[in-house]
Amino acid sequence: MRIILLGPPGAGKGTQAKLISNEYSIPHISTGDIFRKNISEQTPLGVKAKSYMDKGQLVPDELTIEIVNDRLQEDDCKKGFLLDGFPRTVSQAEALDSFLQQKGTKIDKALLIEVPHEFILERMTGRRVCKDCGASYHVKFNPSKVESVCDLCGGELIQRKDDSEETVKERLEVYSNQTAPLVKYYNEKSNLCKVDGTLEIEEVFQNICDILGSDK
Ligand code: ADP
Ligand code: ADP
Ligand code: ZN
Repeated sequence: MRIILLGPPGAGKGTQAKLISNEYSIPHISTGDIFRKNISEQTPLGVKAKSYMDKGQLVPDELTIEIVNDRLQEDDCKKGFLLDGFPRTVSQAEALDSFLQQKGTKIDKALLIEVPHEFILERMTGRRVCKDCGASYHVKFNPSKVESVCDLCGGELIQRKDDSEETVKERLEVYSNQTAPLVKYYNEKSNLCKVDGTLEIEEVFQNICDILGSDK
């Protein structure tokens, strides 16, 4: 199964991606996580990406498309994958389609997690992420069992620099201008499914499983 997750920052894409990846045994590919790993390792890609991410802007398409194409060539993607945070522009979506077409495959489902903007600020400013595995927590809505420690891997939980109020506002603007047009793009391809992201994490996951069904 080849799935993409769409939705504004803070919709719950990363949270649901971990659950889906586990349930359907497909790799979870998060462009944000790939960039953050490169930043922490101070690679040339990380240095370039950081300047955009810190401002809440998108990393340029050429860079982003290349890292995703490389990742999708890996063996573990042969039987499917889950893209979280990619595509974020129409050019990225077109590049993904043409890459998959060359391989004789396509995206099975684009899942849009809908959350009104007024919910987002509280979600983002309370978000804590694992430094090691990228798992997402929330101080109020989804706290870790032990404070500041990841339930999954024991890593330290930190607050992302771009989760400040000012940067979140910029990211929401970027989402509306550059990413929201993808809703129409996938609607026209008839593979868009919408889920209500304001429900509890487990309920959202159940609704996603109902949509994806039992094909694994
Ligand atoms: P995204 O990857 O779309 O930016 P995350 O999965 O990181 O979003 O979730 C953003 C924040 O909201 C995190 O702190 C997460 O714990 C919390 N969160 C995720 N899903 C829900 C939900 N259904 N209800 C309340 N809080 C949620
Ligand atoms: P969120 O979980 O809040 O949606 P991500 O971790 O997906 O955030 O992305 C963090 C930042 O990484 C984005 O604000 C952007 O700067 C960069 N980024 C991630 N994915 C992409 C992409 N597909 N295209 C361009 N920039 C991206
Ligand atoms: Zn972890």
